Amino acid sequence: MQITIAMAGNPNSGKTTLFNALTGARQHVGNYPGITVEKKEGIYISNDKKFNIVDLPGTYSLTAYSQEELVARDFLVHEKPSVIIDIVDASNLERNLYLTIQFLEMGFPVCIALNMMDVAKNRGIEIDIDKLSELLNVPVISTIARKGVGKEELMKVAERIASSKKGSGAHLKISYGKDVDDTLKEMERFIKENQFMTHLYSPRWTALKFLEKDEQVIQKSKKLDKNFSTHLEKMVDNLSDHLQSTMDTYPEAQIADYRYGYIKSILKQGVVSHQDDDDRLYISDKIDKVVTHRFLGPLIMIAVIMGLYQFTFTYSEMPVKWFESLFELISDIASEVIPDGLIKSLIVSGIIDGVGGVLGFVPLIMSMFFGISILEDSGYLARVAFMLDRVFRVFGLHGSSVMPFIVSGGIAGGCAVPGVMAARTLRSPLERLATLLTAPFMNCGAKMPIFALLVAAFFADNEANIMFLITMIAWGGALVVAKLLRMTLLKGESTPFVMELPPYRFPTFQGLMIHTWERTWQYIKKAGTVILGISILLWAMMTFPGLSEEKVQIFEKERNKLKASVSSLVVKELQLYNKETELSKAAQELKDNLQKIDNRASETALRNSFAGRIGVFLENITQLAGFDWRTNIALVGGFAAKEVVVSTLGTAYSLGETDPEKNQDLAEKLRKAPGWNPIVAWSLIVFSIFYAPCFVTVVCIVREAGSWKWGFFSMIFNTCFAFILSVLVFQIGSRLF
Ligand code: GDP
Ligand code: MG
Repeated sequence: MQITIAMAGNPNSGKTTLFNALTGARQHVGNYPGITVEKKEGIYISNDKKFNIVDLPGTYSLTAYSQEELVARDFLVHEKPSVIIDIVDASNLERNLYLTIQFLEMGFPVCIALNMMDVAKNRGIEIDIDKLSELLNVPVISTIARKGVGKEELMKVAERIASSKKGSGAHLKISYGKDVDDTLKEMERFIKENQFMTHLYSPRWTALKFLEKDEQVIQKSKKLDKNFSTHLEKMVDNLSDHLQSTMDTYPEAQIADYRYGYIKSILKQGVVSHQDDDDRLYISDKIDKVVTHRFLGPLIMIAVIMGLYQFTFTYSEMPVKWFESLFELISDIASEVIPDGLIKSLIVSGIIDGVGGVLGFVPLIMSMFFGISILEDSGYLARVAFMLDRVFRVFGLHGSSVMPFIVSGGIAGGCAVPGVMAARTLRSPLERLATLLTAPFMNCGAKMPIFALLVAAFFADNEANIMFLITMIAWGGALVVAKLLRMTLLKGESTPFVMELPPYRFPTFQGLMIHTWERTWQYIKKAGTVILGISILLWAMMTFPGLSEEKVQIFEKERNKLKASVSSLVVKELQLYNKETELSKAAQELKDNLQKIDNRASETALRNSFAGRIGVFLENITQLAGFDWRTNIALVGGFAAKEVVVSTLGTAYSLGETDPEKNQDLAEKLRKAPGWNPIVAWSLIVFSIFYAPCFVTVVCIVREAGSWKWGFFSMIFNTCFAFILSVLVFQIGSRLF
């Protein structure tokens, strides 16, 4: 039988580090069906035994307050892992044990990895491990995940627990004070009688969840039987009233207080002793004095973000060029070997020039992700959230909105889908909606190639600055829209927020590599699957129905007329022409003129295609913003996935020109194409930032907001908003410059 081990613990306790140390390169990323809070699975092998290890999302508790908590809890309850390795941060013992206590209350077989022992030691914290193990009645193994210290012993103990079969069933019972205990007992009996979820949870635990107002459990009880749940809720209300009047508290708070009390009493029995200096500032606190300083902090933040962009563009410039040359080479070879016709057009224009345009940016995306991973792993990103909280309040958002924004690409290169999901941590529905609707304005990884393309084409000297400006525009727009929403449709109070700052840490090289690669791989995978599919579809829409027979005749006639107008010797020369020979002036001229006719023919065909007609039709309006019909096709395609904007432009400009010798990269084509200039580029940048979220994000918004109303709202409102801004940019810009 395969043993499944779940790794659980607070965020930042070192779960992933330990997971990677145990599973090494064998780990792979998997998503939960339906939701994208990630769970990772990997395999650990020792003496021919195979362990299946699951890294759960980090949580502080097991009440269904947030998505992470639900995912972690559901996994534990439904998949019943043989043992839970609870990773506890030794330097933060009291808070971390809060989760441990809850595992024990649920009766799970637990083994504690007391991690960060090096940090604890540096801070002068001494922990009596045997005593802790004895008092909690679970095995405790000290580890330093970063160095892999203690992992073998940990796994030995985990295996022992897993194979001993006992361990579960011994539910820890904490007293929550007489009032709560009495009510708990009563509820417990009632739950047992009705057999409510007794196959999954102990009745006492279910009762506790009712007292803690756990949404999931309450909903389930409602589904089972209305009377049953009302009766339970009545008991809860009675207790609430009683606690309110006697102690000025409420059940949730009382439960938390007693749990902490229980932990304190354990720690006080000689488990923890501090050496010396009470008021010594830890290094993290010292750094924070500067980094989150009222005035210095924001300056440092701007410098860090600018540095990230500078780093990204500088170090990715060469490899991006190589990638582009590589795709040009492939495109050239394909043009040579495949005979003219539809297949060639599909492969060269549809696939290589389309998807290649997106893949060309892999080095850029990769160095961006690398930079972001450093910020994240070191703990700096949490400081960014902390500082932005003050700004967010002003705009009617919440401190917990910062993470959804950053996950969506607030600094660059995220994705709005997990971003929108991350908004679940917000408890106030109004603030949550405002966050859901504005997070997609951030610059997700899919918009990056659009910006990178336009920046490379028109602002090549100033890449990092322009990227910073784009970020500012996105944030500015998002905050203004949030404020507008909170003043109109989503009017209401704001809720308080306490932000925790994890200590700074040096990122490990392995951690950085894994994080960077995971994200880059997602990007590549998407380009190879979804984007490829859409590119082929759009290629077809841009190719058919093609030129009418009549039009073909007209162009053919023009060619013949041109040939007739020069001497037959020249025509002959051109026919014999191959790349090695030098053409005479007259023949070169003829060649150029014929090329022009070819270009006109293919452009006419593209305009006449299904997609072309849509683009041309939209041009009536979009010309106000400076977009021609090709851009329109790209933007419509971008609704499916934003990368498609780049791949579609790639295909459109590839179909529109037929000279196989002058293969240029897309940025160069745009720079030279009529109708393009820096103002149009800005207009398109602004539109891309703000227009309708991609389809998947819309579906997510619908699911999170609970109705299609908000999905439609974000499509229509965002597109109108984007269009107005683009028109302003284009109209004012063209008049000024
Ligand atoms: P998770 O959120 O629980 O997955 O935590 P991570 O595995 O991402 O770890 C958070 C940070 O703590 C990373 O920067 C790790 O390198 C660091 N870390 C993990 N374990 C240890 C440890 O035992 N000692 C020290 N000093 N740092 C650690
Ligand atoms: Mg982690």
